Amino acid sequence: MTALLEIKDLVTAFHTAEGRLPAVDGVSLSIERGQTLGLVGESGCGKSVTAMSTLRLIASPGRIESGSILFTTEGESIDLVSASEKQLRNVRGGRIGMIFQEPMTSLNPVFTIGDQIAEVVQLHRRVTRSEARTRALEMLHLVRVADPEQRLDAYPHQLSGGMRQRVMIAIALACEPELIIADEPTTALDVTIQAQILDLLGDLRSRLGTAVLLITHDLGVVAETCDSVAVMYAGKIVEQASAAELFRHPLHPYTIGLLQSRPDLDNRDSGPLATIHGMVPPPQDFPSGCRFHPRCSYATLPQCSSEVPLLREVIPGHFVRCHFAEEINL
Ligand code: SF4
Repeated sequence: MTALLEIKDLVTAFHTAEGRLPAVDGVSLSIERGQTLGLVGESGCGKSVTAMSTLRLIASPGRIESGSILFTTEGESIDLVSASEKQLRNVRGGRIGMIFQEPMTSLNPVFTIGDQIAEVVQLHRRVTRSEARTRALEMLHLVRVADPEQRLDAYPHQLSGGMRQRVMIAIALACEPELIIADEPTTALDVTIQAQILDLLGDLRSRLGTAVLLITHDLGVVAETCDSVAVMYAGKIVEQASAAELFRHPLHPYTIGLLQSRPDLDNRDSGPLATIHGMVPPPQDFPSGCRFHPRCSYATLPQCSSEVPLLREVIPGHFVRCHFAEEINL
């Protein structure tokens, strides 16, 4: 079966005074209909640039240098890298919805909530103004906004952060997209609202069959919501597997470090959290060989600093970019 979204060898680089900075360096991912793929890693590893590249929202001095992004619906494939602006307008907000981290900066402060949802509907569907407003009201009901009739005429600043994020989800879903790209959709929210929003996304996915590309640094969120996971580090995918397999059996030292640095809520006496020493290097300072080697506690052999590891299928369906994945697998 053809994947709904297939990203192949994507390279997105920024051309600055410091030279060419490849923030996304040969990333390949695929998402099936109705599936949720988690793209995880620390800040600065290239997750958001991957998401923005998927909708060709990268602004200068960044640009997609190579690769393809095939989006296949109703038997028709469009390569979003080479698509015309007209095709992209049809896809963005219509067939692919996007939810950003901070709804206050994504919503327009001078238009009401109802107008902003209705505008998206009118842009992508042949409907009258009043039909679009009815759809906006339906969407506010769907995302469980309290008092939706009143909220329709509210402005963004009159809503709480959790409500604004629900409105962003309503906008993203208003045209029943086949795919939602959600970039840290719950990071700015408190834990209770976070759980409600994730529940809501899961519920909508099962009812409408929407696929989700979920970008997050939070492995707890991935464990609860995703079918499969890709771990990204310094512009590259370093590990990819089903969520169940990756959590049961992580094989890349970076993934192992991320999992060990999660708080163990079942064991509050488990002592101080483990950390991965150092930081994700910026693209101008990517190390030679394996980009993780300066931080890797398994890096004992010269290959780590001299040879770039390939992403290999170490066990069926489980891909790892590490020279020693088999030893870690023992
Ligand atoms: Fe660590 Fe070497 Fe594997 Fe890189 S290749 S993750 S440095 S063990």
